[in-house]
Amino acid sequence: MSVLVYAENAGGNFKKSTFEVISYARAIADQNNATLTALSIGEVDGNELKILALYGADKIITVPNEKLKNFVNQAYASVIAQVAESEAATVVVLSNSFSGRGLAPRIGVKLNAGVIDGAVALPDQADGKFVVKKTVFSGKAFAMVELTSAKKVISLTPNSYQITEAAKPEVIEEFNATLNESDFRAVLKEIVQATDKVSLPEAEIIVSGGRGLKGPENWRMLEELADALGAALACSKPVSDAGWRPHSEHVGQTGIAVSPNLYIAVGISGAIQHLAGVSSSKTIVVINKDPDAPFFKVADYGIVGDAFEVVPKLIAAIKNN
Ligand code: FAD
Repeated sequence: MSVLVYAENAGGNFKKSTFEVISYARAIADQNNATLTALSIGEVDGNELKILALYGADKIITVPNEKLKNFVNQAYASVIAQVAESEAATVVVLSNSFSGRGLAPRIGVKLNAGVIDGAVALPDQADGKFVVKKTVFSGKAFAMVELTSAKKVISLTPNSYQITEAAKPEVIEEFNATLNESDFRAVLKEIVQATDKVSLPEAEIIVSGGRGLKGPENWRMLEELADALGAALACSKPVSDAGWRPHSEHVGQTGIAVSPNLYIAVGISGAIQHLAGVSSSKTIVVINKDPDAPFFKVADYGIVGDAFEVVPKLIAAIKNN
């Protein structure tokens, strides 16, 4: 058996979720006495590639092809499937990132494999079965799904698996993929970065604000808290609907689903549609002046108080430490 992991990069650097995915794939390989191959597509330099060996890749494969410089869903899926065939990989692991969500089903079709999207734990392989825990219903529940196919594709929820170093010798090989016109029907020409802040799905800490903050001018306070913690900013839907914050920060059922290690909700009631996108956060801290706010029911820590008094004290306490 062999395990293949797709090592996603952004601008030539591997994403944090790539190290989670490779650590997860390494653990599956170890469970099965298998080898782990990491596949990098796009422009990544040799020193960056070697990092994959540090996290447990027995072999690193690159695909030199100018046309693959930018992410192209169909073409990348085709390359990953070809490398999986060539490496005789029975398990393909990738991140349940924006691109991973598009790639996983395509690879599944090409390999005739069963697909699990949004895995949150290692497969349970007792009694020769292969059962994976994943989130369902926008994070409101977990499902245990058995993959019965010979080949399996798993996309891992960001922040759900601990990164672990497992240094291996650096073995880098090139792979010549066969691509045709149909792989390039929709081509991404350019990505213009809108912000240098950490992206929400990958953020380890998120500071999120709701209508309780009264207006956009009061976000300065949340920005200061986020800066002090190295956190990303998010907001509830009404906040982005009102134009107080950009839609890219809207989390929840109709926004981005997040699963940070720490989610701090300030002046957010905790409506079910908001919780749908944030409830799989590892630790939830709620600051709300209403002790009956529904968010407190799912909070690990709750502060009943006025955000305009609590948040400045929190910032001062963090800065003093
Ligand atoms: P409010 O409900 O107005 O709550 C404000 C909170 O702030 C209150 O709990 C209040 O006690 C507290 N507060 C007020 N002043 C202070 C203060 N000074 N200090 C501390 N606390 C204070 N919502 C989402 O967020 N994401 C979604 O994806 C989403 N999708 C939806 C999809 C559908 C189909 C529908 C119908 C709704 C959706 N909603 C979504 C909206 C959702 O139902 C709620 O209306 C919304 O989450 C409420 O936002 P809020 O908590 O910011 O505002």
